Amino acid sequence: MTLWKSPHPELDFPTNLTTWEWAFETEEFSPCRGDPATLGGYSNAATRERLNFAEVKKKATQLSTILVLKYGLQPQQTVSLFSSNTIWYPVAMWATVRAGGRVNGASPSYTVEEMVHALQTAEARFLMTIPSSLEIALAAATGAGIPKDHVLLLEGSAPGFTSIQQLISLYEHDQYRAVPFYHIPMGKTNKDICGYLNFSSGTTGLPKAVMLSHHNVIAQCHQLRQLQLLPADGRYRILAVMPLFHITGLVRFCHYPVFMNGESIMLPKFTMDSMLSAIIEHVVEELILVPPIIVRVVRDPVVDKYLPDLRRIVKRWSSGSAPCSPEIIDQLHAKFPNTGFRQGYGATESTACISSHPPSHFDFKYAKTGGKLVANTIAKVLSLDEPRRLLGPGETGEICAQGPQIAMGYLGNEEATKESFDEEHFLHTGDVGHITEDGLICIEDRIKEMIKVKGLQVPPAELEDVLLSHPNVEECAVLGIPDPYSGEKPKAFVVPKSGIRPSDSFGQELLSLVKGRKVRYKWLAELEFTDEIPRNGTGKLLRRVLKVMEQDR
Ligand code: AMP
Repeated sequence: MTLWKSPHPELDFPTNLTTWEWAFETEEFSPCRGDPATLGGYSNAATRERLNFAEVKKKATQLSTILVLKYGLQPQQTVSLFSSNTIWYPVAMWATVRAGGRVNGASPSYTVEEMVHALQTAEARFLMTIPSSLEIALAAATGAGIPKDHVLLLEGSAPGFTSIQQLISLYEHDQYRAVPFYHIPMGKTNKDICGYLNFSSGTTGLPKAVMLSHHNVIAQCHQLRQLQLLPADGRYRILAVMPLFHITGLVRFCHYPVFMNGESIMLPKFTMDSMLSAIIEHVVEELILVPPIIVRVVRDPVVDKYLPDLRRIVKRWSSGSAPCSPEIIDQLHAKFPNTGFRQGYGATESTACISSHPPSHFDFKYAKTGGKLVANTIAKVLSLDEPRRLLGPGETGEICAQGPQIAMGYLGNEEATKESFDEEHFLHTGDVGHITEDGLICIEDRIKEMIKVKGLQVPPAELEDVLLSHPNVEECAVLGIPDPYSGEKPKAFVVPKSGIRPSDSFGQELLSLVKGRKVRYKWLAELEFTDEIPRNGTGKLLRRVLKVMEQDR
C-alpha cells in the first residue's frame, strides 16, 4: 500500500477559531496589534486607495453589525460577491464571516442565466456587486428570489441602491454598538462550520458550491506560510492579478496577506501594462500567475520596456490553476535567468494547494512538476483501470489527496460529494499524474470533464445544455482542445436532428446561442457537425474516446 506523506514538519492548526477570530481577535495570529504604521493592508493598484488591517477590522465590524441588525443576516446565510478585484471585496468578506455567514464569489462578467444558477446553488440571501455588473446582478437576484434591498454595492453608487460605505457611515452616524462576533458553537469545531462557497464543477456536471470550512482556510494559510520566503525588508507583498472569486484569490489575496501582515495589491482591471507597472511600483518579488499570463510575459513585446526593472525586482514566478507548458517554462527561464519558479497544484476542493515547491525547490529544474505535498497532506495514486488499486512511484493514475485543506463537500449535493470525496475523505481530483520517488507530483492529464480556459473552469455540461436547448440539435458533446494561449478552448461536436442539414449558418447560429448565454471565456472556439457521439452500452457519453479521436487527427 503506497501512501505519500508530506515531507514537511507537521503543523498544528487552531480548531476553535473562525477565520475572523484567527485573523483579527487573537494575540497569536492577528496583525492588528502595535503601531498602525507597520500594518499591512489591501490597496488598489489603480486608484491607490488603501485600507490597513486595523481599518479593515473596524469597517468589517461596522458593516457586519449593520448587516445583522438592519438586514437580519444570520449565521450560515450566504452573501454572494460579484465583483472585480477591489479592496472592498475582502471588507465585505470579513464582515460576512464575522457574523457567521458564508461568503460566495462568482465572476462579475457572468450572464444573468449563469448568475441565477450561481445564486441558487449557493443559496444566496444577499448580493453585493459593483455598478458595472449591477444590471445583470439585479436581474439575476430577481430570478433567484433575492429582494432588491438585499442587492448592495461594494463600491461606487447607483440611484436607488445602497453601498456598503453608506452602511458603514450609518453605523457611525447612528452610533450603533458592535454586535459580538460569531463563535463556534459548543461541541463543534471550525471543521464543522462552512465559511465559504466557491464554485467548481468537480468531476462532472454543472458548477456546484464547494463548502469550505473555517478550518480549511486557516490550515491552507499555515501550510503556505511554511513555504514562504520573504523579501529582504520582511514585508510580504502580493499582486492580486487573478480574480478574488477564484480559490487562489480567496486564499492568497484576501486571507493570507492578513495572516502575514503583508500588502495585498489589487489589480482591478488586468492589462499587461497595469500589471507590470504595479510589480515595479510595489516591488513585488514573487508573482502568482496563471499560465496564459506567463505566456504573455514570455511573448508580449510590451514586456521589453519593463525588462531591466523586472529582472531586478522579480525573484520568483509561481504558476497554478492549470498546466503550464514546458516550452513556456523554458522560455521564461531564458528571459529571466536569475529567477526561481514554483507551481501550486490543487483545486477549489482543496482550498487551493495540495502541493507546491518548498524553498529548496524554487529552481527551474523542478518547474515542470507540481512540487511536494504541503504539510499534513497525504496522497495516493489510484489505477485508472482498477480504481481501488494503489500505484507506486512513477506509476500514472488518479491523484487523490487527504488533509486539513480538503473541502467539506458540495452544498446540497450528497451524490456529487460521495463521488469526489471517499470514505476516508480523500479528494479524488480527477487529475491524472504520478508521484516520483522524491515525492514530486507530476500532473499529466485530466479524467474529469472540466475544461480549463485561462485557468478558469468551463464545465462542458453547461455548454451542452445550451446547445441541446436548440430545437434542431439531437445530441452534442463539448470537450477541451489545446490552445497555446488559453491552455484549452471548448469545442462542440453536434449531431443535428434528422432532416436538418449541417451548414455554416446553422453552426454560426449555435455559436451565437452560446455567446448570448455564457460569459466570454466559455464561448466555443470550434464546432463540428458529426453523425454520432460515441456512447457506451448504457448511453454514457464516452468523452475520452472523442478526445482521443480528436487528438489522432
Ligand atoms: P480549480 O478548482 O478551478 O482550481 O481547478 C482545479 C483543477 O485545475 C485541477 O484539478 C487541475 O486539473 C487544474 N490545475 C490546478 N493547478 C494545476 C497545476 N499546477 N498543474 C496542472 N493542472 C492544474
